[in-house]
Amino acid sequence: MPTPKVSFIRAFRDNYIWMIESGSQAVLVDPGDATPVLNTFKQRKLKLAGILLTHKHNDHTGGVANLLKKNNVPVYGPAKDGIQTVTHPLKEGDTVTFDALDGLTLSVLDVPGHTLGHIAYYAESQKWLFCGDLLFGAGCGRIFEGTPAQMHESINKVASLPDDTLVYAGHEYTIPNLKFAAAVEPDNPAIPERVKTCMEKRRKYMPTLPSTIAQEKATNPFMRADQATIIDRMASLEKLSKKTPVAAFTAIREWKDSFVG
Ligand SMILES: [Zn+2]
Repeated sequence: MPTPKVSFIRAFRDNYIWMIESGSQAVLVDPGDATPVLNTFKQRKLKLAGILLTHKHNDHTGGVANLLKKNNVPVYGPAKDGIQTVTHPLKEGDTVTFDALDGLTLSVLDVPGHTLGHIAYYAESQKWLFCGDLLFGAGCGRIFEGTPAQMHESINKVASLPDDTLVYAGHEYTIPNLKFAAAVEPDNPAIPERVKTCMEKRRKYMPTLPSTIAQEKATNPFMRADQATIIDRMASLEKLSKKTPVAAFTAIREWKDSFVG
């Protein structure tokens, strides 16, 4: 019996359109642009079986209308983000099963913060997490609509997934994010180690993704905001009014928004 696998299509400057495929069938995650998708499908003779959307931003949804012109497929997406092309609105606890992907089932997590409706998809059988702009390699999305406390809770939710879960994030930002992570935690040896392996991948024009939840827990300051060492460090930089994980998370996000690496 075949098993589904994940591949990627590059879009724009640094987006990844993740593709779950089995045989000639493929499901796309966040197709922001139809052109590179159609080229890949033509080249590899793939058939579209469905689309999964994590949130409403155009660089994640912009290709959907065009793809639907030639393919009548279900479009899954957040119930709360107001995306016009969604045919199957989803919320926390819902599941999506694709017969075309050997019965692969993904469960839905509500992860508000970047947008209020943002969802993530978790395939428990494969330990795959498709998280859009919730989480990046060593970073997280900007908080456009939610509060820092919401974003912190959303990140902690995915942090509780198994350590070997593969994190398929929406953008290639890992190396600049690690520069910031090193400013937050100059004494964390896991950060320069990860820089080294990521640089090797980028030299070969390979994605630094997927990462794992374990790697993010070790190097991602946004996933480490609950650690006493980080809270103490942020307090010593006089960036905290009170020593709590949410205050540390908020201060790290604010610092990152203005950080020049
Ligand atoms: Zn976004």
